[in-house]
Amino acid sequence: MGVALLGATGSIGNSTLRVLERQRDRFVPVALTANGNVAALAEQVARIAPAYVGLVQACPEAPAHWKRGAECLVEAATHPLADIVVNAVVGAAGLPATLAALRAGKRVALANKETLVMAGEIVTSTAREHGGSLVPVDSEHSAILQCLAGREPHDVRRLILTASGGPFRTWASDRINAATVADALKHPTWQMGSKITIDSATLANKALEVIEAHHLFGVPYDRIEVVVHPQSIIHSFVEFVDGSVLAQLGVPSMELPILYALTWPERVPDTGVPSFDPVGVGALTFESVRHDDFPMLALGIRAGRLGGAAPAVYNAANEQAVALFLDGRLGFAGIPRRVAAAVRDLASLPAGSLETLLAADAAARAHVLAGTED
Ligand code: NAD
Ligand code: MG
Repeated sequence: MGVALLGATGSIGNSTLRVLERQRDRFVPVALTANGNVAALAEQVARIAPAYVGLVQACPEAPAHWKRGAECLVEAATHPLADIVVNAVVGAAGLPATLAALRAGKRVALANKETLVMAGEIVTSTAREHGGSLVPVDSEHSAILQCLAGREPHDVRRLILTASGGPFRTWASDRINAATVADALKHPTWQMGSKITIDSATLANKALEVIEAHHLFGVPYDRIEVVVHPQSIIHSFVEFVDGSVLAQLGVPSMELPILYALTWPERVPDTGVPSFDPVGVGALTFESVRHDDFPMLALGIRAGRLGGAAPAVYNAANEQAVALFLDGRLGFAGIPRRVAAAVRDLASLPAGSLETLLAADAAARAHVLAGTED
């Protein structure tokens, strides 16, 4: 099967290539794209020789035969040799490619959760109408998909998503509010790109995942819960109507959910990830979320429940606020303040079409940039 990999140079992109290189008999990488990291993309292209290479940013040093500009994402996603599109782009920029791949009837292995948060109804209805399939790469959603295997929505009582709690899980609130970029980038259990690492520190990531779970599995918000599980070994739970609970476990490596997204509903032999050692893993513990100290979680779930433009506003405001934080232009405590102000002022913008959602996304970014709350 041909695989197009969008966001090849990122954390998920590199993990995906490791999986694909182990599974050469089954999968052929046919298209790779990156944003602007020419050196990293060139190294991958030399190793893999894909039929299509695309670079979003204009970089003079890029080889002439590489495709340029944001359109390369859609071109790669609809490449005739691609059966599966792994969307590992970060942020709302991944949306057109997800929609184009689903319209072309392809399987989208989706890491790019922002796509579902921003336009969940449009993405899921596009998949239904055109025969494309949407398979999660996110470890929590992969866990739920694995626990649900063969079950109907009416069999499910609750989804319980696990959260590592991030680097500030045990910090006092004053210390969290004064956290630096270096503090927030030190994730205890996962090695990831910088945007999702900050989202894990604020718990915005878990809000995005609750919205993602709502759209992927059709479960209402009042039946999706979050529990802190610092070891990141249990990737999520499903409670069924009879009271039984299934969980999926594994070492914290994204290579496991990536492989499952490629082969679902089948499983294939793979030995790339160290074998599970229950004694080595030690005690597994659970805690409640400290909502007062991590307001981004409840704010995001509220935006999800509000629906309409609210999730797109929350997502775009968060992307912009995180970019300002990473740039040293906004304090850590400023992230929830700016995002809350954007959701308060813009949640009722029109949201009936892709155009109106893109307008809400742009308005939310402008609102955060113009904000004065730190
Ligand atoms: P990353 O920053 O490491 O990589 C992002 C990739 O996207 C890079 O290849 C970059 O070139 C490309 N990219 C960035 N901006 C782009 C743009 N505007 N247009 C086109 N391409 C662009 O990020 P990551 O950690 O690999 O995360 C990717 C996605 O996967 C995110 O949506 C994240 O939430 C999700 N995810 C990541 C992990 C993880 O372990 N890293 C786990 C679950 C979900
Ligand atoms: Mg996750």
